[in-house]
Amino acid sequence: MRTPLIAGNWKMYKTIGEATALVRDLLAELGPLTDREAIVCPPFTALAAVAPLVAGSALGLGAQNLYPEAQGAFTGEVSPVMLTDVGCRYVIVGHSERRHYFSESDALVNRKLRAALAHGLHPIVCVGESKPQRDAGQAEPIVTAQVRAALVEVPPDRMPDVVIAYEPIWAIGTGDTATPADAQAMHAAIRATLAELYGSEIATAVRIQYGGSVKPDNIDELMAQPDIDGALVGGASLQAASFLRIIQYR
Ligand code: PEP
Repeated sequence: MRTPLIAGNWKMYKTIGEATALVRDLLAELGPLTDREAIVCPPFTALAAVAPLVAGSALGLGAQNLYPEAQGAFTGEVSPVMLTDVGCRYVIVGHSERRHYFSESDALVNRKLRAALAHGLHPIVCVGESKPQRDAGQAEPIVTAQVRAALVEVPPDRMPDVVIAYEPIWAIGTGDTATPADAQAMHAAIRATLAELYGSEIATAVRIQYGGSVKPDNIDELMAQPDIDGALVGGASLQAASFLRIIQYR
């Protein structure tokens, strides 16, 4: 009932030439997708070059960030209007790298999420605990509080457009994946929080991705978990062969 979503977050990698080459390689191997969705999230500079290549294909397009205003004197920022204009359907908000390196607060993440929805984009909102927080037994309260904060003033009828990505910070780019059982337990806790906020019907409809060192050799086991509805993939989305294998999880 939930269509799994595999998303490639290219971070600050790939020139325009490299991005278009990777997309061509992906499309050369990727047949139509019927029971899953796959998207790429290139850096801003490559969006306009990638958009016409993926138009009408099995791959969708997303951005990695936005500024929560339609336009204005915000030097260096990119608005949701600009993202829909270039062909994006999705946008990542609140990635832990943005929370950490650019001091993005829960309140700003919430503004970004609502701005994305207001402009017809599907936000992929990232939540996740640090290693010290997990070691202190605080993972679940920290993550569910991030979910609640991200969804402040988001009405129930917009929730089917929201994607949540559970990304334990200690698993991102480290090769250290959460076990499928630990990931499933957190996804179930997130879904229970959604049920408290919006009721069980909406909670059942929202997609919750796992992210953190997802690779070809762990994707199948992760996707076998009942509450894992896709993956947000960093490093392994930068090469066609590994990202294709992840999209083609079994
Ligand atoms: C990410 O960038 O969101 C991510 C999960 O990265 P990686 O797959 O490299 O851990």
